[in-house]
Amino acid sequence: MRVSHPADIALGKAAAGHRLSAEDAYALSTLPACKLDHLCAASAQLRTQAHGRTLTYSPKVFLPVTNLCRDRCTYCTFRRDPNDAGEWTMSPEEISEWSRRGRSLGCIEALMCLGDRPEVAFRGFKELLESYGADSTADYVRIACEISLAEGLLPHSNAGLLSQDEMAMLRPLNVSMGLMLENISPRLRDKGMPHQYAPDKDPARRMQMIDDAGELRIPFTTGLLVGIGENEAERIASLLAIRRSHERHGHIQEVIIQNFRAKPGTPMGSDPDAEEAVMLRTIALARLILGAEMNLQAPPNLSPNAHVRLIRAGINDWGGISPLTSDYVNPEAPWPHLDALRRTCEDEGFTLAPRLPVYDAYLTESWQDEPVLSVARTIRDHLDGAMAV
Ligand code: SF4
Repeated sequence: MRVSHPADIALGKAAAGHRLSAEDAYALSTLPACKLDHLCAASAQLRTQAHGRTLTYSPKVFLPVTNLCRDRCTYCTFRRDPNDAGEWTMSPEEISEWSRRGRSLGCIEALMCLGDRPEVAFRGFKELLESYGADSTADYVRIACEISLAEGLLPHSNAGLLSQDEMAMLRPLNVSMGLMLENISPRLRDKGMPHQYAPDKDPARRMQMIDDAGELRIPFTTGLLVGIGENEAERIASLLAIRRSHERHGHIQEVIIQNFRAKPGTPMGSDPDAEEAVMLRTIALARLILGAEMNLQAPPNLSPNAHVRLIRAGINDWGGISPLTSDYVNPEAPWPHLDALRRTCEDEGFTLAPRLPVYDAYLTESWQDEPVLSVARTIRDHLDGAMAV
């Protein structure tokens, strides 16, 4: 009698829509590379069952509120020290101006993206914040959200590691918030690893924030950074940790699978980029572990030649794409042209559609405060009207 391999049993369970146990999930890691197509096909089938033939993106303005950061991740070109060339904290006027221009170009999302807790490391920054009427970086993000909201955009803050009090302060002004887990393995903070000098990348503290967001009923975006020295078991452990938090609180609105790309001039500048096969495998594993309903995203600008394969691996979303601002975290990687991305989606049998920075399931009183909820619903209605035309 032929005995089925545990990985094939797990694949069969996932394809049938059953929840995978942790044991099943780890069994999938033994699936040989030659079965990547099987893995992707199972993932894509689940995606289409739950999300139909639409792939979404969020038209956004990327607002790099400040690029000062107290951490030093060895792959990062975004962060600056005070007085470095390119050091930049956006003034309230710049936030207002960029938000207004973004809205006029059809943007919906104001992505607040910034370094971690610079006021702890740089005394002069605290004084700058005070001149803007803020007593901390998180408080300045609150002001930035108020400005963008007044200009008609929906804020989504990715403001680094925040306390529960800071998130509670930002909740009424954000339709959703985010923090990449990156990876659950504490090994990545060891000597010589990418997060050695990044105290805010401590995975236990990041999981705490993700759980705190659930307790506060904040729709939340998180994800994995693939290719920074982790292994597949650690990626699976990370996906399982995200699933545990989501099963407790129901708040994980989307999971980003992001590929590492080496940037010249950084300590990891000569490391290899994340392998495409690893990226596709991680997307498929994420779909099978997190389930058909989860919104699964891969940034199109970081894999410009792999859009078809990303679709076939089971994503249902491309994340934020901006007609105005570049990807300040990956400035070397331009956004794709929407027309080209639309054609690629259509060639694969999908429609490309804009979305809000919060998914419909979270557009309710229990997940949102007023006035953000009303603004979001109005924009949602306009979007529906435009799509119907
Ligand atoms: S990746 Fe984020 S936390 Fe790390 S150094 Fe760059 S800005 Fe700071």
